[in-house]
Amino acid sequence: MSFAECKDQQQVVKLLQRSLERGRLGHAYLFTGNSLSVLEAMAQTLAKTLNCLQPKRAPNGIALDCCDSCSACHRIANFGHPDVQWVRPESKSRAITIDQVRDLMQTIHLKPMEAAYKVGIIVAADRMNVQSANAFLKTLEEPPPKSVLILLSSEPGRLLETIYSRCLVLSFAGGSGPALLSEQVAWLKQFSEMATQENQTLLGRYRLLGLLLSRLAQLKERIEKDLTQRSPLERYADAETSLREKWEAELAAAVEAEYRRQRSDVLVALQWWLRDVWLCTQRLGADQICFQPLAPTTQGVAGRLSTEAATENLRVIEKTHRLLETNVQEALVLEVGLLKLSL
Ligand SMILES: [Zn+2]
Repeated sequence: MSFAECKDQQQVVKLLQRSLERGRLGHAYLFTGNSLSVLEAMAQTLAKTLNCLQPKRAPNGIALDCCDSCSACHRIANFGHPDVQWVRPESKSRAITIDQVRDLMQTIHLKPMEAAYKVGIIVAADRMNVQSANAFLKTLEEPPPKSVLILLSSEPGRLLETIYSRCLVLSFAGGSGPALLSEQVAWLKQFSEMATQENQTLLGRYRLLGLLLSRLAQLKERIEKDLTQRSPLERYADAETSLREKWEAELAAAVEAEYRRQRSDVLVALQWWLRDVWLCTQRLGADQICFQPLAPTTQGVAGRLSTEAATENLRVIEKTHRLLETNVQEALVLEVGLLKLSL
């Protein structure tokens, strides 16, 4: 497959090709998306493009796409190219072991046998354990010249922050984004309008935080009400104390789990909106964005931001989302996250 054939991924492909054309190939990428097989195909196409013998070139001579038919392309497609190495979780433990990582790092540090670039591709990079990840970090910090590492993950939230922050993240989520209820879209519209008007003041930022917290409080209240109604506690008011205590504990756990799920949906919606803002800073055209009804406010915010600031926003919101999963201090995590956003 060549980039030209990846019809569903054209917006990300264009970003990638633009960075290639400007000579800004990163030394480490993190490709994220729902489907690992899509991510594998994209990583393979990038490896081909870097090593193709007769690539399609930009006017400045830099390869932008592979031919998909030369011997290098063929061998990369068949996993038989000596300079393109793949690492996958071991089938037994479903983990990427430290030996696998060491092996890859050794290969990456050798000069390319025949190709222009050494490419290391780590499938399901979130399966690296702490030891493997630490072994990997050294190379990530001081990559050998003419090498590119491509990490693939459908669960980037599981990656160590130290690894995540050293990679250029490209999201191949593709398609139309999350399926959102109209109520969520209405809330997001309110949020984006307030973000457009807030004029980067601290007060404006706290108003945004207030809007987010009241949305979460509203969700929690509704979940508590719904689940309490369905709990046997209501129906069997005179049950034994021990049984009631058990039901109460079950109810509390169910409320917490459902709340976390819905809170995650809110964060995902915010992530997609910030991704739209980021896309608008790339001047790729409004037809690429996920929330069309929000386009005016999205472009309003994007007009004030550099692409770098919009990229940083994506990192901030992803990090906030991940911290929430592990941290009980919800309000603090959200406050720190929102204050860090550039809007
Ligand atoms: Zn080729």
